[in-house]
Amino acid sequence: MIYQYWNERMETLPRAELEAYQLEQLKKIVAVALRTPFYQKRLGEAGIHDADDIRSLADIRRVPFTTKHDLRDGFPYGFLSVPKDEVIRLHASSGTTGTPTTIYFNKEDIARWTNFVARSIYATGCNKTDVFQNMITYGLFTGGLGFHFGGEAVGMLVIPSGAGNTTRQFKLMQDFGTTVVHATPSFLLHVEAKMREEGVMRESLALKRAFAGAEPYSEDTRRRIEALLHIDVYNSYGLSEMNGPGVAFECQTKDGLHIWEDGYIAEIVNPDTLEPVPDGEVGELVLTCLCREASPILRYRTRDLTGFYTEPCSCGRTHRRLRRITGRTDDMLIINGVNLFPSQIEEVIMSIKEVGNNYLIVVEKEGVLDRLTVKTEVGLGIFMDDTRPLNALKERIRKTLQSMITINPRVELHESGSLPVSEGKAKRVQDNRPKDV
Ligand code: ADP
Ligand code: ZN
Repeated sequence: MIYQYWNERMETLPRAELEAYQLEQLKKIVAVALRTPFYQKRLGEAGIHDADDIRSLADIRRVPFTTKHDLRDGFPYGFLSVPKDEVIRLHASSGTTGTPTTIYFNKEDIARWTNFVARSIYATGCNKTDVFQNMITYGLFTGGLGFHFGGEAVGMLVIPSGAGNTTRQFKLMQDFGTTVVHATPSFLLHVEAKMREEGVMRESLALKRAFAGAEPYSEDTRRRIEALLHIDVYNSYGLSEMNGPGVAFECQTKDGLHIWEDGYIAEIVNPDTLEPVPDGEVGELVLTCLCREASPILRYRTRDLTGFYTEPCSCGRTHRRLRRITGRTDDMLIINGVNLFPSQIEEVIMSIKEVGNNYLIVVEKEGVLDRLTVKTEVGLGIFMDDTRPLNALKERIRKTLQSMITINPRVELHESGSLPVSEGKAKRVQDNRPKDV
């Protein structure tokens, strides 16, 4: 394969030089952070009073962690390091787990962020001849404008379609010859089901690639989308605290996400002890943003679970790769004492080909016990009034799940298109157990 680089020198910089660059940037950002009341106090308590107190990259471990809680406490301006009139944009997180947090950008911050998104898009093989339909929510959510400007920087024709309205999305794809889309994986599955329902022929589309992210999904889900739509799907990871998309992205080898280490310092820690995990093991991702001045954030506990690949990538990039993010530390369900991540369920059901493109996990209390119900749609062409094969399928799903997750779930099958679809991040879990028990 011939790999293309947006910035070949930076993307293939020898590790020693890359780390020297990171140290230089870390010192700069510590100096910037010291201008904010929050870090002046936090860093001061840790004995860091100026940039020269950071002498090596390992010194990052002297920097205290920042949590989502800290960011909320600092709302609205506690993390602002530049005069307000230098700020040109703000974004906020989607608020999946509570009150949203706000991030500010100055002009250079936007330029640097755009550059990382452009680099990510280019790494998948796109170029200026592509037509890019950004099927994701625009607005405070970073995925809309982040990809929008990144796509423009690459020189693609960008269609700011936003999320939702599949019929209109198909029309745009056909009218303008869309070759690449960006969406959540759950929306891509929905698009595919709708295509079949509305009789949109695959041949009428010029689609080649999709960037899928903003929520966890399994390798089986990726393969399913790729097989159904005949496209390449690239995993895209980002979070508003670290600008948004363009933090880590898959290259054409589609095997792990390169984290752009000239923009971010990544650490993986044990979420309980907060000590680094042995190289290659899974833990909580901690990120330091080196590329944003207006809202500096150091050692942010993302709560996202992943690990580093230890082998270099065949594409020649020296920036390390992260494993597919399986979920957040706070996604974990405890069902009758057994720990379970929704991604474990997804992995099982998406590997069964008769299962349709949408599912929902429901947890309830039944007496003193927790009861897990997995609701899945059936694939098109499977009829709800044909009970024999349906019961067999239900039983197969239940058995496979039970052997993989050691919990015996109830399985419900639903007609294709009948489970709720969200335009943004999918809500896969409904936990109806009383909160205080
Ligand atoms: P919120 O924290 O409110 O969801 P964001 O919109 O900033 O706000 O979302 C960032 C989060 O989305 C990440 O921390 C991660 O949990 C999830 N996420 C983003 N991209 C991916 C991905 N490719 N795989 C798994 N999870 C992802
Ligand atoms: Zn690579």
